Amino acid sequence: MSKLALYGGAPVRKTVLYKGWPGIREYGLEEIENLVKVIKARSPFRYYGPDLQNMVKNFEKSMCERFGVKHAVGVTSCTASLIIALKAAGIGPGDKVIVPACTFVATAGAVVCAGAVPVFCDVDDTMNIDPYKIKDVADKYTKAVITVPLGGFPVQMDKVMEEARKLGLIVIEDVAQSMGASLNGKPMGTWGDIGCFSLQMNKIITTGEGGVVISNNDTLFERAVRYHDQGQYREQEGFLTNSAEHVFIGQNYRMSELTGAVALAQIEKLDIIVGRMKQVKKHIKDAIKDIPGIRFKRVIDEDGDAACSLTLLFDTVEKADIFNKALNAEGIAVSAQYGGRPVYMIPQIFHQKTVDRDNFPFNQFDEPVVYTEDMCPNANYYMPRSCFISLSAEFEDGDVQDIITAIRKVAAEIL
Ligand SMILES: *Cc1c(COP(=O)(O)O)cnc(C)c1O
Repeated sequence: MSKLALYGGAPVRKTVLYKGWPGIREYGLEEIENLVKVIKARSPFRYYGPDLQNMVKNFEKSMCERFGVKHAVGVTSCTASLIIALKAAGIGPGDKVIVPACTFVATAGAVVCAGAVPVFCDVDDTMNIDPYKIKDVADKYTKAVITVPLGGFPVQMDKVMEEARKLGLIVIEDVAQSMGASLNGKPMGTWGDIGCFSLQMNKIITTGEGGVVISNNDTLFERAVRYHDQGQYREQEGFLTNSAEHVFIGQNYRMSELTGAVALAQIEKLDIIVGRMKQVKKHIKDAIKDIPGIRFKRVIDEDGDAACSLTLLFDTVEKADIFNKALNAEGIAVSAQYGGRPVYMIPQIFHQKTVDRDNFPFNQFDEPVVYTEDMCPNANYYMPRSCFISLSAEFEDGDVQDIITAIRKVAAEIL
């Protein structure tokens, strides 16, 4: 066996392999042509201009077609789209929202920005929310649950919906990082009451910054559109009224036509990107599945995996630590999922530090909201035992081979 790079041996790769950011790798003439149209038309605002190109509107139409939903609205980010979804659902001060223990900080942060408080539900061995634990963290204040398909891995949404309906909870899907994932052929983002996507650069398709809200629910959608545009609904398309009872004060989370131009070109490329990532993932998994001591994180529907990541699991934290260090030394960029810590351990969340007076919105309840380090034991178990590998549609055969070679080399020495 060759000596590990971690111990001074020659690394598998001389330069670190990182080809994340799948969307920008597909940037090409389509994005350029759409952008040029908007610039030439001097109409970068979505609702009016000298020669409106309707890029955002056409992107929304494409989203509706691709996801088989009635409504979509482009917004400025997924964080914005989560706040919009919460506000559309009427959630605010005095409400609690269930968030999975294993997610990006924005899922919990958006709840606080909407004036509500996150409570955390443990995950199962998919590292996605455990549907059967939702009821354990719900109380009389709880209004909604947010689900997060992590790294392309579909959530058990059929069970989540059953459990949420029993408890009378709104279901918001934070599909930021998993556009293209599905369960039983039904896309993530279309199972719940409202779905939120990100177009930030780390996500599967991208405009640098951006987001989308989708829904089949007319009322929720109307409220989402109003909240994102100062309480207005500018495009009167039949089913909506502008009567005084429907009006409220909103925000500005509008998508610009420049963003829409790129988003419209990118959505056409989603299935190509996901298709290639699936091939890459299958190839790597097949080539390492015989290695004793490595387990793949469970995926509930292989066909529904958007395949933007591969997560390995080890039986001890020590093994995961040394494996991750050794793989990085070989030139393959990996880490434990979110640094191995549940989202509620991020200091500003754990210590409930908000920007508002008197720690609003945490001060809205009869009993204090208490977070403890060990409140989600499965998240605490799996996250530090994981090795998260970003996959790319742009990996060449040599890149895929390097990943396989490095994993086999490290496993042979360490496991
Ligand atoms: C990236 C991400 C977000 C935030 O998306 P932005 O568009 O950057 O606001 C929210 N939730 C999850 C799960 C994410 O991965």
